[in-house]
Amino acid sequence: MLLKERTESNELLVLRSLNTRMALDDKENYHYLNLEKGYEGEIAFDALTDCLADDRYLIHDLQLEVNGGYVQLDSVIVTPGIIHLIDVKNFQGDCYYDSDKLFSVKTQREYKNPLTQLKRSATSLRQFLQIHKQNYTVDAHVVFINPEFTLYKAPMDQPLVLPTQVNRFINKMKQTPSTLQAKDQKLAQTLLSLHLVKNPYESLPHYTYDQLQKGIYCKHCRSFMVFRESNVLVCKSCKDREVLRSAIIRNTKEYRLLFPDDPITVQRIFDWCDLDITTHTISRALNQHFIKCGVTSDSYYQ
Ligand SMILES: [Zn+2]
Repeated sequence: MLLKERTESNELLVLRSLNTRMALDDKENYHYLNLEKGYEGEIAFDALTDCLADDRYLIHDLQLEVNGGYVQLDSVIVTPGIIHLIDVKNFQGDCYYDSDKLFSVKTQREYKNPLTQLKRSATSLRQFLQIHKQNYTVDAHVVFINPEFTLYKAPMDQPLVLPTQVNRFINKMKQTPSTLQAKDQKLAQTLLSLHLVKNPYESLPHYTYDQLQKGIYCKHCRSFMVFRESNVLVCKSCKDREVLRSAIIRNTKEYRLLFPDDPITVQRIFDWCDLDITTHTISRALNQHFIKCGVTSDSYYQ
């Protein structure tokens, strides 16, 4: 049973939005692209695990606090007696393994060894199980999901699943009989109930309202070249069409994502949308999708 689907993290959503509305510096951009790539790989892995959902508990992207420390687990698959812990890597190109380190063949750049991260995650999960008096074996693997990735000199005695082995890895799991018991369900529920929604270590650039580009961009190609045709917004770049009201709501949700502590007011959203529309149109859209607090000019939406 799929107990928790993966969704984009707050960090990724904010960076995606900032990348459209301001210029990220090289470091921020590198971090952003890494998150996009990682997410893409994780989604690809999740699709492969669909076939396991009948008789196992699948939890994608679990964040826990264990002994005061924070741990993020890409995928956790609960089966009777065994928890499969999977760390998904979407590396691309040629790398080689040397003295417990991972290097790019092309640039010689050293990557963080995914096995180090995996060992840390597995240790945290084992501690979690101990704290909750659960007797399960943790079976941890790093899965390299991208078919365009090669790892030269990969150690054979480490829990690495290379791109050409991924299907066999999933099939082997699938062929292992798994009859879930009440205690497995209880454990899965405990894991889920302690999931932390927010990652305390998210790394976001500093930004202010004034420095961001205002306006509504196309939901399809992210171009700001959208123009209004009565109650529809049409993108000049890709010709995508979106109902004006939906676009206002989408833009308002994005404002809330970027400025969670700032009140949503008609005037602010009017400024944020920067369209040839009236505050009345904004007000009508907000009234339908948010709860209005207050009746004066100070009223705001939740
Ligand atoms: Zn477009």
